[in-house]
Amino acid sequence: MTTPPRRLRIGLIANRSHQDAPNSALVQLFRGAKEAISVLQPELIVVGRTLDALISHDLVNGYPAMQRFPYGREGGLMKLVSRVVDSEPERAVDAVIYLIDPVDPSSIFPEALALKRQCVIHGKPFLSTLASAREWLELEALAAGAASDASLDAAFGFAGEGIALIAHDAMKERMLGLAERHFALLDGYTQRYATGTTGGLLNQLAQKIKGEDAGRNWVQPFLSGPLGGDAQIAELVLERKVRRILFLEDPHVARQHEADIQLLERAARTVTDFALVISDADGADRWLDLLARRSAAV
Ligand code: PGA
Repeated sequence: MTTPPRRLRIGLIANRSHQDAPNSALVQLFRGAKEAISVLQPELIVVGRTLDALISHDLVNGYPAMQRFPYGREGGLMKLVSRVVDSEPERAVDAVIYLIDPVDPSSIFPEALALKRQCVIHGKPFLSTLASAREWLELEALAAGAASDASLDAAFGFAGEGIALIAHDAMKERMLGLAERHFALLDGYTQRYATGTTGGLLNQLAQKIKGEDAGRNWVQPFLSGPLGGDAQIAELVLERKVRRILFLEDPHVARQHEADIQLLERAARTVTDFALVISDADGADRWLDLLARRSAAV
């Protein structure tokens, strides 16, 4: 007999402005992803005030596996960082949902930055927008055999949409590998955008795969990241022209344009119901596979 895979363990926290309102991002996530959550039955580790909010919205009734972590001011978020890097299966979290309000000062506290960075390093999804959490739960439920949620169909049709592709130098080979493997999916987008050097490499790849049909700019290259390309892409996100950003970061080097990288993340969080950033290279391959499966159902 094969043992069933252990259920996913997810760390959950929302900034205050995403907690309390009747239609807050936290409420929208729990109500909207109800089916996916009931299929996956994830174990949730919830930071103090976020759990208080779930209780006050009556969203935890009957939920089988929920664990309370301390309030943020008492170190709840810091403890979550430790669980991201933990190798002990009984303690480790598999993914983090952190619904970030870009103007909440706590969103740039060291523990908030470390949480994302350690997710990238340890290959775990870091889902900081409502759209990213909804999409991840939908795709994981699909992988577990659930039917798709038709209310999300509009987000999975790629005609008329743009996708952004960015890779730091150490990750450019990984980006090219992913783009080659998932070329048909990316080609199905009406428009692709990239930072300068990444874009140049992707355009060479497109010429190799598609020849003249790729045109000169299969990907529209903006300025190189350090010269402001991330900010140019952020504007498209804010205008809701780019919903998904695949951003293969190198977390092991000092980045001269760190502010620009953060700016792009913040742009996605500003349109939290719409945009998502995928920054974990290990998970990107699975994400693109599932995205192709889900979009075929539209
Ligand atoms: P590049 O920019 O594609 O121009 O290298 C990416 C980055 O380094 O941010």
